[in-house]
Amino acid sequence: MVERKVVTRFAPSPTGFMHVGGVRTALYAWLWARKNGGTFILRIEDTDKDREVAGSIDHIKECLKWLELDWDEGPDKGGPHLPYVQSERLELYKRYAQILINKGLAYPDPYTSDQLDEFREQAELAGKPFLYREHRPAYLSGEGKNREKWDETKPLRFRTPEIKETKWNDLVYGELSAGPEALDDFILIKSDGYPTYNFAHIVDDIEMGVTHVMRGQEFISSTPKFLAVYEALEVLPPLFATLPPILAPDGKKKLGKRDGAKDLLEYRKEGYLPEAMINFLALLGWNPGTDQEIFRKEELVNSFKLEQVQRSGARLDEKKLDWINKEHLKTKPEKELEVLILERLPKEIRNPKLVPLILERISKFSDIDTMVKEKELEFFFVRPKIDRQKLSFKGTTAEETKENLRKAISALSAVQDFKKEEIKSVLMQVAEGLDGRGKLLHPVRFALSGLERSPDPFIIAEILGKDETLSRLKEVVK
Ligand code: GLU
Repeated sequence: MVERKVVTRFAPSPTGFMHVGGVRTALYAWLWARKNGGTFILRIEDTDKDREVAGSIDHIKECLKWLELDWDEGPDKGGPHLPYVQSERLELYKRYAQILINKGLAYPDPYTSDQLDEFREQAELAGKPFLYREHRPAYLSGEGKNREKWDETKPLRFRTPEIKETKWNDLVYGELSAGPEALDDFILIKSDGYPTYNFAHIVDDIEMGVTHVMRGQEFISSTPKFLAVYEALEVLPPLFATLPPILAPDGKKKLGKRDGAKDLLEYRKEGYLPEAMINFLALLGWNPGTDQEIFRKEELVNSFKLEQVQRSGARLDEKKLDWINKEHLKTKPEKELEVLILERLPKEIRNPKLVPLILERISKFSDIDTMVKEKELEFFFVRPKIDRQKLSFKGTTAEETKENLRKAISALSAVQDFKKEEIKSVLMQVAEGLDGRGKLLHPVRFALSGLERSPDPFIIAEILGKDETLSRLKEVVK
């Protein structure tokens, strides 16, 4: 058999903002295409006009662009299967519908919605599942290709050729099967002329040569219907890889908009790095089989395997995202980080000297906003009021503290190159001579910052500079 070139697609419906679930699907499809030297397609599935939300398509593209998940074919890009927006492909779906009609495998639905409601109620009263195929119009009951002309004013339904048990293989979940009740005569084309998702995506996957379909578990129950259509069209279906659900932070419920599923672009606003976001999303359901947790994008492309996608739900853990982001921050060139950090600071305190200190304390850029809001950086620019009650280390008298601060002043006065390493070395020398380093380090830190929790005194002193450091210490001693 000739190996087919791998083709994957991301086929979102523009029904609102994308959250991690949607983007993870896109990422896995992208990774699989890139790994195999294949094609990654972006296709917009906008056939349900009632559910469409304005701006969604731009939002989807913006998310993919942020994460640099570039598509080879699709909107703005073109390709051999133009257009890539389903609402612009209606003629194609009708052509496929006609193939089924000609085979006697599609028929116009004769019922009004009231009649259908009635059937549904009857089934409910009888305690049975409602199956449309039990109400097929009588003329279809014979063996032959009995048909009625479809004038496109009525919905067109699929005539399921054979009601049987369905078995298929999922690349992640293995052997799956469903009983005959999973098959029914579903709508192919609605009375408004738009195809249903159930039909349109099959036509497009066939036309676009898609080899691997990645999507969520919610599509398993409809897969027997999809397979019946492939069979009716006499086309081999693609391979299916069902992705595990993403669970809310509590690990119990499926992630939903109420349980922490937020707009992906919120993460961008919060200042996560796109490469960290990708790393995080990749691990939401994929187990690399080693201890490695930090991956650059190219490493993901190399390592990712569909066989390693897990079946159990993956918990959305933003603490882990913070950790991953911090790890990625560490690998970024200093110059680049400096620009990003300074950009986030209010103009009045945009001082490059603060960069190393900030970097040490943040895991994402929005942590800088918090530091600013909590006035954790203010003491660098405004001399703090010192609460003398808090100046002394526990168990030390005020006199002792004063004496220790004097020692610090004289040690620091002698420092030529006022850098944190040098500052640390002289202060530690003094501190080691006391019965407890805290007796020196605490009051120095506190005298410089006025804060009970702050960075270490060495870095603060370096940023303040020699004059300001000595002057703050002297003022306290006075
Ligand atoms: N348009 C579908 C959705 O957004 C895509 C499902 C699929 O990938 O086939 O849920």
